[in-house]
Amino acid sequence: MTIRTQPRKITAAVVSNPHQLHFREMLIKAPRKNEVGVRILACGICHTDLGFMAEGTILGHEGAGIVEQVGSEVTAVKPGDHVVLSYQSCGICPACQQQQPFNCEHFSKLNFGFQRLDGSSAYPEGVQGHFFGQSAFANYCLVTEQNLVKVADDLPLSLLAPLGCGIQTGAGTVFNTLKVQAGDSLMVMGTGTVGLAAIMAAKVAGAKTIIAVDRDPARLALAIKLGATETINSDQESDLTTLCPHLNHVIDTTGIGHLDELGQDVLKEGGTLVRLTGSAGETFTRGRKAISVIQGDSVAQTFIPKLIELWQQGRFPLEKLITYYHFDDINRALQDSRNGKVIKAVLVWD
Ligand SMILES: [Zn+2]
Ligand SMILES: [Zn+2]
Repeated sequence: MTIRTQPRKITAAVVSNPHQLHFREMLIKAPRKNEVGVRILACGICHTDLGFMAEGTILGHEGAGIVEQVGSEVTAVKPGDHVVLSYQSCGICPACQQQQPFNCEHFSKLNFGFQRLDGSSAYPEGVQGHFFGQSAFANYCLVTEQNLVKVADDLPLSLLAPLGCGIQTGAGTVFNTLKVQAGDSLMVMGTGTVGLAAIMAAKVAGAKTIIAVDRDPARLALAIKLGATETINSDQESDLTTLCPHLNHVIDTTGIGHLDELGQDVLKEGGTLVRLTGSAGETFTRGRKAISVIQGDSVAQTFIPKLIELWQQGRFPLEKLITYYHFDDINRALQDSRNGKVIKAVLVWD
């Protein structure tokens, strides 16, 4: 096989104004020796994408596709392998060396900095790529071994694409951070992708009480189907005041102040509130802990295969969260995600 060292033409959805993306053709540089070129077949839309709609950016960080070319130092995959993409990490800092890539000291730069670790870019002037080490709102992108997960060829990549961020975060918080045990009780505030993934995981873990909190009755009904044992409509005062259980765990995906307070009130001593809202830090009040975690403390290469196995067993029905759109409809898919019409939009090429 001849190794291509010339730039490759790609088609990418570039943000042209805060509410609109336009497809553009452009040249992207050939993979470096530690990089992998992936032909993207599908990509989920995550709420983090919606927060980074700056002109000239290529977003997308739940990509899945087929390896097209690998750099000379890459050993984990070869051309033709199927891969799911997750968050980026450096692989060399102390946290990465200790198998905690979610605490990578370069996390912010590599995932939100629109650049490689050395500050360079494979994209043309004026285009911001490498979002989460991916920028997968495109038909091709460059990644590294750190943010790819090899999967079996016979699995549906469009279904697996969203495992790389929101679903991993919700399920990882239950399995890795809280280590929910059989018989435990927990409350999940917010029933978007992250919250519903947490509920599915809590059911797998054998939690006895799983309380879903949201203001959308349809979402609460879905939460029940996926494993919630009780629901609370946060718009109904009467629902909230009847609540006095003493829970082991609370997961807040909303960042809404009064819900956060409620979460702390319903914990029993020794209980933990996990904030998946981007806030940092750890507090300890009245014997109850509040923490924030990144990506559910998940190492994608081991955790995503575990989620796939649960899905194969019928115990993690993530297809119930997904609505598919053709990539051509990316603006409609973003709009539907923004206004809550769909839970998890997944874009697919032909
Ligand atoms: Zn995300
Ligand atoms: Zn690192």
